[in-house]
Amino acid sequence: MKKLILFLSAISIALSSYGELKYVFYMIGDGMGSNEVLAAEMYQAELQGRIGRVPLTMTSFPVFGMATTYSASNGITDSAAAGTALATGKKTNNGCLGVDKDSISVTSIAEDWHLKGWPVAIMTSVAIDHATPGAFYAHVDNRSRYYEIGTQLAATGYEFFGGAGFHKPTNQKDSNAVNLYDLCEQSGYTFAHGYADAQNKLGAEKLILVQAEDGIDKQQPSESIPYAIDRKGGDLTLSQIVETAISYMAPKGKFFMMIEGGKIDYAGHSRDAATNIQEVLDFDQAIQIVYQFYLAHADETLIVVTADHETGGMALGHGGKYILNLQALQHQQISSWELNTQIADLYKQYGRRLKWEQVHALLQEQLGFYSHIEINAKNEARLYSAYKHLIRGKQKTEKTLYNDISELGGEAIHIMNKIARVGWTSSGHTAANVPVFAIGVGAERFTGWYDNTEIVEKIKAGL
Ligand SMILES: [Zn+2]
Repeated sequence: MKKLILFLSAISIALSSYGELKYVFYMIGDGMGSNEVLAAEMYQAELQGRIGRVPLTMTSFPVFGMATTYSASNGITDSAAAGTALATGKKTNNGCLGVDKDSISVTSIAEDWHLKGWPVAIMTSVAIDHATPGAFYAHVDNRSRYYEIGTQLAATGYEFFGGAGFHKPTNQKDSNAVNLYDLCEQSGYTFAHGYADAQNKLGAEKLILVQAEDGIDKQQPSESIPYAIDRKGGDLTLSQIVETAISYMAPKGKFFMMIEGGKIDYAGHSRDAATNIQEVLDFDQAIQIVYQFYLAHADETLIVVTADHETGGMALGHGGKYILNLQALQHQQISSWELNTQIADLYKQYGRRLKWEQVHALLQEQLGFYSHIEINAKNEARLYSAYKHLIRGKQKTEKTLYNDISELGGEAIHIMNKIARVGWTSSGHTAANVPVFAIGVGAERFTGWYDNTEIVEKIKAGL
């Protein structure tokens, strides 16, 4: 008994003897609502042939909270206003980045702490000048001013950036304006093109890790790294970016890192359940890498994982029946974006001569239709009608934020979702609460139900 008491008191001393906060990981799953997280967990359990969940790393953290996401201008936020709230603790209007609703600049935690001597790393799976990363360094009243956001990135002096390259590397209004890649080099940044190149440049004074392809053409816009579901060997991954950032930043002795899983949102906008789940799992892999760092520095590290908003109104359950069939999504091999590209390529190659059998073969190969997933007569008729519209040059295209969805591709993914019993209410964002998961120094502050503006204040309270 005495031994047990000693043991328990040793544990309580260990729990209360947190050291000084040195390492902060602020991880944001763009568009990652609670259902997106649960879908990834229940999908994995279904793959094991059971009902339930396979816990992700993030949901295994000991502290859980919920945050509201509305912006100053609307009940439904965009990523710029949400990013601003998460980075600065201030509500702003949709579209505004790093400024309040009166267009006055507000300071992000990254800027604030960098001034106090904290090394800063900002990374994402989308472009490094996109809204969420931008909220940690830029100040513009319109998130679409990408070139200007990029010039502000170059001026930060932050130690590390990682992701796809610049969305608009050139200034469309002024052809004499300096290219953003050149501007960053002039500002002391070294570019690493892909993971292998980065490992040789860990000694650089300031480092920007981008996809290999961005090394080839500095004029071209860079949107994002490939979806996890579409990944091919050699593609840069979010986990590789995070690994590189940790290798690069750890010798500095302390740091603030913002890590965005940016394409959960893209898959939500496309209402593409299989791709969405794979993006959440991929983001969780990056969290696992961070968690390994935490295990080695538990008394000096804080990890906070949250989302800026939910995207798509994902519902687990669809069509009135008490059935969930997420396992069907394992047969989808590519994203809706890639499927639409492949359909467009087929049409480009064959035009009106494109045969229904060729479309059949594509849907079988990429979605498992006919071979693994039964397609009833009603769904077959919908697909056939979309095919007819395609070869007649009359198909309707739906524009969503990051993806032009062809009628045929849209029908196919819609059928896939219906078979898996995943519903979507929107091709945009919703006002749903987002989860907050935390572990480490000061994690206990993140329990409860609060506003997204409070998250950054809770992190700052650890200093
Ligand atoms: Zn979005």
